[in-house]
Amino acid sequence: MGVYDQGVKLASEMDGVDPLKGIRQEFYLNDEVIYMDGNSLGLFPKAAEASLLRVLEDYKRMGIDCWTKTNPQLFLYQDHLGALMAGLVGASPEEVTIMSNTTLNLHSMIATFYKPSAERYKILVDDLTFPTSRYAIESQLRLKGLSPEVALKEVKSLDGRTLDEDMLIEAMTEDVAIAVFPSVLYRSGQLLDVARLTQAAHERGILIGFDCCHGVGAVPHEFSKWDVDFAVWCTYKYLNGGPGSNAALYLNKRHFGLHPGLAGWQGYVKDKQFDLLNTFEPVRNAGGWQSGTQNIFSMAPLEGSLELFNRVGVEKIREKSLKLTDYLMALIDDKLTGYGFSVGNPREPHRRGGHVALEHQDAVRINQALKDNGVMPDFRAPNVIRLAPIALYTSFTEVFRVVETLVRIMDDRLYENYSSKRGTVA
Ligand SMILES: *Cc1c(COP(=O)(O)O)cnc(C)c1O
Repeated sequence: MGVYDQGVKLASEMDGVDPLKGIRQEFYLNDEVIYMDGNSLGLFPKAAEASLLRVLEDYKRMGIDCWTKTNPQLFLYQDHLGALMAGLVGASPEEVTIMSNTTLNLHSMIATFYKPSAERYKILVDDLTFPTSRYAIESQLRLKGLSPEVALKEVKSLDGRTLDEDMLIEAMTEDVAIAVFPSVLYRSGQLLDVARLTQAAHERGILIGFDCCHGVGAVPHEFSKWDVDFAVWCTYKYLNGGPGSNAALYLNKRHFGLHPGLAGWQGYVKDKQFDLLNTFEPVRNAGGWQSGTQNIFSMAPLEGSLELFNRVGVEKIREKSLKLTDYLMALIDDKLTGYGFSVGNPREPHRRGGHVALEHQDAVRINQALKDNGVMPDFRAPNVIRLAPIALYTSFTEVFRVVETLVRIMDDRLYENYSSKRGTVA
């Protein structure tokens, strides 16, 4: 048997003993494409389609009664879905709600918690976080009449890939009011020690929140145990809610009763909301931070998807995800380093999320060649091809094929047919 056949055999043996192998059937997959981009936009579970269609049917049949006469009630659907999400992030059901998008949820949190004083007026961030949180935070500073030059404190990465937690903690000085970091970095896939950062922030009188878009659904989070103040994350990546599905908000119950920074009538105490009084009385749970009418069709797929996650269990998902990425890194070391590829993510399991950051100086072109050769990866400037084998629907055989495709692209110099300009949606 040749080396190639041995590789195929080993991968199919791993698939054979994979306890999650059957879950793949529960997704819409395209047989012609190996999908390695579930960290950007996850594939659709059939159960997500079913919950969306059920809600649509209810509305078609009932009209306005769909708000109250469905099971679960659409009037409270956002909190029902929050409760379904709670187990994935180690939170109490009332600490999680589904609403708007990640960026707006971060706005809402900063608007709630940022009360600059002469002594404490800085918001601490890093230079590798997905930039939308920077845009949001800077605009919140400006709303308070402060310039980012004065009130934004940034910790810079030393290697352009990863953050040093000691440096993040060192930067938690007495003038910092709030710190906001990612749990998993979107480019390098580094997983931060959220518990340690949270403890360090609290010891210094700093509130701390996390953007967990690249973590939830791939890595277990323990928000209650870690005691983070707030967290936001999207649901269309690892959580497979579909393009633009509504985001999630975690708010530590310690903060229930605070006045929401971006208040609206959907955050009103629910049994009195329709009294339509001019005095605002927020619900004492994360739902109190709802603003306007919830986007039911943009959250309905989550019901089916979250039920699938709860059935499988996030620990099992993490276990397989680590096996898939371990296998992918081993194949990269074995077959691709000779072509100038290297692994840009941390290697230790407790320091990495769900994707592998494959680096190459010709990454833009190789990424395009992959797309034309049956693999869907994505590219992040300047030199990273992100490969995300997804525990629920990627097989070990597919991981093997991805690496074989890369070998072929390099051997046959297929990437030379492409220009080094990236597309609009990378
Ligand atoms: C994808 C992603 C977002 C997206 O934010 P939206 O407001 O939901 O578009 C934000 N932060 C991180 C880290 C992301 O990966």
